[in-house]
Amino acid sequence: MLDTLLKALAGRADRALELQTGLTSFPAFGPDSGGPGEWDKAAWLEARLRAYGLTDIERLDADDERVPSGKRPNMIVRVPGKSKRMVWVLGHLDVVPPGDASLWRSDPWTVTRDAEDPDIIRGRGVEDNQQAVVAGSLIAAELVEQGLTPDLGFGLIVVADEETGNKYGAEYVLEQRPDLIAPDDLVLVPDFGTADGMLIEVAEKGTLWLKVTVTGVQCHASTPDEGKNALVAASAMILRVREVEERFNAVDPLFTPPRSTMAATRHDANVPNVNTIPGKDVFFIDCRVLPAYSVDEVLDAFRGLGAEIAAQYGVTVAVDVVSREPAAPATPVNSEVVTLLKEAIFRIYGLECHAGGIGGGTVARLVRHRNIPAAVWSRVFDNAHVPNEAARLSDAVNDARVYSCLLFAR
Ligand SMILES: [Zn+2]
Repeated sequence: MLDTLLKALAGRADRALELQTGLTSFPAFGPDSGGPGEWDKAAWLEARLRAYGLTDIERLDADDERVPSGKRPNMIVRVPGKSKRMVWVLGHLDVVPPGDASLWRSDPWTVTRDAEDPDIIRGRGVEDNQQAVVAGSLIAAELVEQGLTPDLGFGLIVVADEETGNKYGAEYVLEQRPDLIAPDDLVLVPDFGTADGMLIEVAEKGTLWLKVTVTGVQCHASTPDEGKNALVAASAMILRVREVEERFNAVDPLFTPPRSTMAATRHDANVPNVNTIPGKDVFFIDCRVLPAYSVDEVLDAFRGLGAEIAAQYGVTVAVDVVSREPAAPATPVNSEVVTLLKEAIFRIYGLECHAGGIGGGTVARLVRHRNIPAAVWSRVFDNAHVPNEAARLSDAVNDARVYSCLLFAR
């Protein structure tokens, strides 16, 4: 039965193109980014899936009055298997805005095919995260059309709001339906991948984003002794971020890089003119914290550093949390989902993958926080969020074939 399914899916590049073309036509970024949300895109996908013959489609829409529809759509599509156990594919419908329009060679909301290689398509969202949604849709449609009942059931969960915090998307779905995913289900989150397809992501570092506001005393630059230079104090603190990083020096070879990282990143404009001593300076720190530490320990360390700087330079230093995401328990590298996925990737792509951790974050974190193992893998160009975002139709098809193998895991 698996061979029948794999063979049928191999011929579905045209369907992948049809789905990518439809999905890309909706500028589905959320209200935090000034967009209308995912409502129309979800309606289009649901209609397509019903046209393919799928009937078990459940909606779990979250109220959000900031968008024209008043709702952020979440969809659960199911095809039953012989057992109650499920293979889940999680994908998200929202995209990021196109960014600088002049950097796009074609309209971001119209799928174009590469002139030299028609397997390559471009448009906002084709990789992140439509390749996952397309792969899952191909599997669901094929099972229904071929009248196949696999050993495990298949479920596709399509959510909103991944790019801006998950509150109206995966978080909402998992809160509303805590029993939706059973601990022994096999969960795939194809929302990260490397160009060589070699990494199965099983762990993510905790994330802590800090805003540091240094307040001194503004004055004329010709009489600097009358002020307290906030830029100089902020600079001193920026140079000591490294010290905090070195204090949290645990090493975990699962991750690349294998340590916690802490980096000063954004710096906001202070005074517009040269001849004023700035009285206020604002910068940000991005921390990626190994599971060995709690993100709150790191927060305390930066508040402590801020107090030292304040005492030394006669300024005040406020350290505020912009984003705080504690690390979830890692999915064991020898868990069933990882082992089966490895075998499947070898069968379809001939690749011998390894499992590891990253500093980024996916919705797999939300699943892992519920003590359900989840594996993150896809084969992509690894060009999410960039202009001229590209994907291969054959990768959507072959990723679908990889995930299908798990349906016959006994
Ligand atoms: Zn994504």
